[in-house]
Amino acid sequence: MLTKEFQLTNRHWFTDSRQVTSHASDTLATDAVFFAIQGEHHDGHAFIGDLYQKGIRQFVVERLALTPERREELLAYADAQFMEVDSSLQTLQALAADHRRQFRIPVIGITGSNGKTIVKEWLAQLLADDYVIARSPKSYNSQLGVPLSVHQLTESHTMGIFEAGISKAQEMQALEAIIRPTIGIFTNIGTAHDEGFRTRKQKVAEKLRLFIHASALIYCTDYADIDEEVNMLLKAVNPDMRFITWSLTGRNALYQGHMQGDQLSLTGRNVAFEQPLILPFTDPASVENLMHCLVTMLSLRTWTAAELQSRLNRLRPVSMRLEQKEGINNCELIDDSYNNDMVGLQLALRFLNQQGTRSRRVVILSDVLQTGQPEAELYEQVGTLMRANEVGQFIGIGPVVSRNKSFFRDNSQFFTTTEAFLAQFSFSELRDSSVLVKGARPFSFERIVHRLERKVHGTVLEINLDALTHNLNYYRERISRNDGPSETKIMVMVKAFAYGSGSAEVAQLLQFHRVDYLAVAYADEGVSLRQNGVDLPIMVMNPAPETFTTLLEYKLEPEIYSLRMLREWGDFLADEAQRTAGNESDPYLIHLKIDTGMHRLGFLERELTIVTDFLKRHPDLHVATVFSHLVGADDAQFNPFSRQQYETFLRCTTFLETELGYLPTRHLLNSAGIVRFPDYKLDMVRLGIGLYGVEATGTEQSALQTVGTLRTVCSQIKTVEAGESVGYSRRGVLDHEARIATLAIGYADGYDRRLGNGVGEVWVNGTCCPTVGNICMDMTMIDVTAASVSEGDEVIVFGPELPITDLARRIGTIPYEILTGVSERVKRVFFKEGN
Ligand SMILES: *Cc1c(COP(=O)(O)O)cnc(C)c1O
Repeated sequence: MLTKEFQLTNRHWFTDSRQVTSHASDTLATDAVFFAIQGEHHDGHAFIGDLYQKGIRQFVVERLALTPERREELLAYADAQFMEVDSSLQTLQALAADHRRQFRIPVIGITGSNGKTIVKEWLAQLLADDYVIARSPKSYNSQLGVPLSVHQLTESHTMGIFEAGISKAQEMQALEAIIRPTIGIFTNIGTAHDEGFRTRKQKVAEKLRLFIHASALIYCTDYADIDEEVNMLLKAVNPDMRFITWSLTGRNALYQGHMQGDQLSLTGRNVAFEQPLILPFTDPASVENLMHCLVTMLSLRTWTAAELQSRLNRLRPVSMRLEQKEGINNCELIDDSYNNDMVGLQLALRFLNQQGTRSRRVVILSDVLQTGQPEAELYEQVGTLMRANEVGQFIGIGPVVSRNKSFFRDNSQFFTTTEAFLAQFSFSELRDSSVLVKGARPFSFERIVHRLERKVHGTVLEINLDALTHNLNYYRERISRNDGPSETKIMVMVKAFAYGSGSAEVAQLLQFHRVDYLAVAYADEGVSLRQNGVDLPIMVMNPAPETFTTLLEYKLEPEIYSLRMLREWGDFLADEAQRTAGNESDPYLIHLKIDTGMHRLGFLERELTIVTDFLKRHPDLHVATVFSHLVGADDAQFNPFSRQQYETFLRCTTFLETELGYLPTRHLLNSAGIVRFPDYKLDMVRLGIGLYGVEATGTEQSALQTVGTLRTVCSQIKTVEAGESVGYSRRGVLDHEARIATLAIGYADGYDRRLGNGVGEVWVNGTCCPTVGNICMDMTMIDVTAASVSEGDEVIVFGPELPITDLARRIGTIPYEILTGVSERVKRVFFKEGN
């Protein structure tokens, strides 16, 4: 059964089991194939059963991953087909390469250190009138992303634009075979040290492999390294290649550009524009990206300056942001500004599935533009997608989607224009839903977002979900180093509103990434997670007896830290058992906290005999995990004490194992401990502050990404004379005439009062500006004399430019306090830009 071959002409390829929603439609079942990939920290084969339940019937599986037990398991899925291969990834890549060979259209392949995605998106915007373009979604440019991107090519496309990114030597060859570019663009080469390569030369040479079969290559000769390697390597392997070079500094090249203000004078072969072109973006990176685009266009056909200018005028900044924010009537909004095409729609629906916290889903979608597909086929697909993603209500806006309403469920609504929707839609009926708003630019859906958004004052805490994922992966990688056969589990602390970041949304992301456990401080935090659709196991660290019923009802697992609690919980369960007499139930999971030196909560070592005696008399109680907490994991001066705590803890767990007859999952380390004491990781770790972007030991900060950005706005600006004072109690006396800006943030928002009177600084349009006078409850005054700023401008209170650690240091506290101090009245906006 396992060797059965099947035709891989399927339209849907999945490599991530999480992308398959709960009930795949029939079309999906017959038209989908799952490639199970065994990675270093992840094994897709573990999810085959799950996917089978969801209706998937075709699987590509890896020979080495098929243990005898697994083979046994697969036999149970009698009507499924399995193709056994050496490497699922290589099979996927080979299939994508075959797919690519069927198309004789221009294909642009882009690589380089920076700008790949922007050049790709801009070229697609600039050439939209001339070609029907298939392109990589967002920045799908990896070993996995490239085949999935190229697989989108269909008969109706007349051009492909794909990007290729590599991080190690030897990776480009596979991508070349899949993209097979006819035209290459080498954007640039960065100076950043690259772990995967011995030298920069090697990096350039490896990237150049993308172009070995291309007929033309576009690059900038101002990058001497690229120029040199092209001449050394490519000219020899591919003598017929056209080198379409450009320079902004007068180096030898086919095209010469010269910038003055926002004007670009461009000269070169076949080009003698009398008028300079006016560029819509003029920062150096954008100019470079635009040069690549213009030179590529000129290599395709001849253009007049006026034509090029009109195309340039249409260019829009590339935004890949998906934002999740609070809406009216207890709705949650998912606002997608990425290009509106089918792939973009699929990505947005995936996000809705992954991050949506309401059980009812609504999609507001405009006409889908520039797909090149016949409209009936297109909207039939859109309709299928809505059903597959369990969208409860669909609202279509635009003439084309409206005339294809037959493909959507009966309760759908249609409006020909955004104005009509705003005027006629009954907003009060839209409640308690996750609402995806996704429109092509001409439909100005920002007006819809504006209408649906819950309005709060101008201070916002933005949470970068990509950064959270990055940080999670960083710690996962650290704990999996030297892992034996059993993997170290991960519990994530989402107490205190997920360190101020917003519990439900963060927990939703963690659930998507399959962490093992969550922990909260109080029962009600756990209840709120359950009500928002989180079903991971949750430990409650401080469960008061009044909440015991709630714990049971919501399947929350208490931390038991004292004999009193143990007895109370035991009594409570005995009463429960009597009430529900006769009903067999699973044992109740509890977590034992051991006090090894913190002297906060927990059992002392000498109390454990009483604990085990009690537990032996209560077999219905099962100790799921046992844990303790290091008092000084972040500080080397406490190393001997940490060691002592570890040893005490081990003695305790050994004792428990002997007495109970089983060994509960043991965990000791917090974020700092994970970094500093890998030897103590045991069976599980408890990740806290590190996930939120603060590396507690201070030694690995650069490995983490900033998660939270607190921003506010300038409400008013005025000039105040020297000698005057600013704010309450005349504390801020000016020694110079100053421009003073009042910000919409105060200590009630969590901007600590100790940051007043120049102790704190905020970031305004690139300048650090000190606070002036005392911080008020809802407002703060700053000196913007040195900055260029107008009323209404945005101000960063902390974020990538202004680290939380720096704020904490200024007022002698720890980053934990700053993070958790951001008041709940500050609106949280969650966003994601990457794949
Ligand atoms: C909060 C908490 C953690 C996480 O600590 P970080 O320093 O934020 O990583 C771990 N264990 C316990 C018991 C905690 O209360």
